[in-house]
Amino acid sequence: MGELRGFLRYDRRAAAERPPAERIHDFQEFLVMRPDEELREQGARCMDCGVPFCHGGCPLGNLIPDWNHLVYRDLWQMAIGSLHETNNFPEFTGRLCPAPCEAACVLEIREGESVTIKQIEQAIIDRAYDEGWVVPQPPALETGRRVAIVGSGPAGLAAAQQLRRAGHAVVVFERDEAPGGLIRFGVPDFKIEKQLVERRVDQLLAEGVELRLGVDVGKDVDPAELLDEFDALVLAIGSRVPRDLEVPGRELDGIHFAMDYLYERNRAVAAELGPRPQLDPPPAAGISAAGRKVVVIGGGDTGADCIGNALREGAEWITQLEIVPEPSEHRPDELTPWPHWPLKLRISYAMKEARETRHGELDFSVVTTRFGGNGAVRTMHIAQAAPDPPFAPLPGTERELEADLVLLAMGFVHPERQIAASLGLELDPRGNVAAPAYATSREGVFVCGDARRGQSLIVWAINEGRECAQAVERHLAALVS
Ligand SMILES: Cc1cc2nc3c(=O)[nH]c(=O)nc-3n(C[C@H](O)[C@H](O)[C@H](O)COP(=O)(O)OP(=O)(O)OC[C@H]3O[C@@H](n4cnc5c(N)ncnc54)[C@H](O)[C@@H]3O)c2cc1C
Ligand code: SF4
Repeated sequence: MGELRGFLRYDRRAAAERPPAERIHDFQEFLVMRPDEELREQGARCMDCGVPFCHGGCPLGNLIPDWNHLVYRDLWQMAIGSLHETNNFPEFTGRLCPAPCEAACVLEIREGESVTIKQIEQAIIDRAYDEGWVVPQPPALETGRRVAIVGSGPAGLAAAQQLRRAGHAVVVFERDEAPGGLIRFGVPDFKIEKQLVERRVDQLLAEGVELRLGVDVGKDVDPAELLDEFDALVLAIGSRVPRDLEVPGRELDGIHFAMDYLYERNRAVAAELGPRPQLDPPPAAGISAAGRKVVVIGGGDTGADCIGNALREGAEWITQLEIVPEPSEHRPDELTPWPHWPLKLRISYAMKEARETRHGELDFSVVTTRFGGNGAVRTMHIAQAAPDPPFAPLPGTERELEADLVLLAMGFVHPERQIAASLGLELDPRGNVAAPAYATSREGVFVCGDARRGQSLIVWAINEGRECAQAVERHLAALVS
């Protein structure tokens, strides 16, 4: 275990952040790693509980008490060995995971006291890269089997790495100009610098994974041809159909889906600061928040990342609207007691930036009734929402808000349907590709990540990629010739 009574000796010290007033002027990561000595103290706080609830809280089943102990004992190389056993990409989760493990940590029974697991995870992998301990692990033997994977987000990349290391030839098809999925084109550089994605993809390439960029499966390649050419086909295409807001005025200029804006911003930052994509990106539509009154409709990571980008572009003012009522500040034990993920108020990193620099505000229980403007959006008409679904506008509460850029960040309804339709795949009741154990309704076709479970988290996508790879392995092992 960490240090006997370490949790009594040392206070929790979460990852440090650069000051908002400074960081909104650049695109560098805003989390700052603490010195090794402090990280060891944080590792020392782990009690190595007989039943490690943190371990169960992590979708990957990361062996958290083991590596907390190893960090406490300064055994970093052993720590990365333990971490890589369950997680292909700890540099993604160490930066981006909401850390359900910390909500489940036994120390969190006293709210706000959990071990800083996520920070320690990031420190282990960053140290491992600095020390040169992360090296390609090509397979010792080739099986002669071939697997096609569509999509290079965290699910596709995790599946690719697992299958390649098992000796299969793996080709990843990606329609974008660079790999990484939402980590590349959704999440901004100030949460994860894109060299980190490149660095990990380089490892996969050195292990023998083949990456074909700029290939839109279903348009450029017939999925049925892939089934003929390969022994298995894995769909890791994400859940990309955005939820729309069907109110009068929706057709006005200046109202965009959040992902269209985020793709543009990520491409603009890559063009300015690198890494340059292997292929040319498509022409930009010119969505910009600079000098604008921006309204972001919807909370969540997508809304936060829109705000973070809009601030860095120099938006005049940003209003974020959330339809649900404001949750309680503390863990509501009657609803989500420990060790469950608490449904409580979380102010995003981006809203902290907006508030501290006096550039924005967040409003709860707000429903949009219509947009106003002549050709381009100028106003939004909003009302107080009833507290329960369908969150109808309460009579007499309508008011107007100025807006010249509106970003719709209300989530995603299901994956795009073209590939599933052309292969005749069954869908589940939510419109995702149905595959209770990763195998779809068609022999040899598998699905993982957001395309299977709906829009979710990176940690779940990695988990799905790994588990899907196991299902593919079983299928390949059963093939006769
Ligand atoms: C803006 C935003 C921010 C987020 N931030 C976080 C965060 O901070 N932490 C967190 O845990 N989660 C976050 N998420 C959720 C997380 O990014 C996703 O759950 C995760 O990326 C899903 O991984 P995936 O591999 O299933 O799909 P994706 O990452 O969506 O990748 C799918 C890939 O498939 C490709 N593709 C799709 N169709 C085709 C086709 N026909 N042919 C070829 N290629 C195709 C796409 O181009 C893409 O590269 C965020 C989501 C968004 C939208
Ligand atoms: S992947 Fe997420 S849940 Fe798992 S240990 Fe890391 S931060 Fe915690």
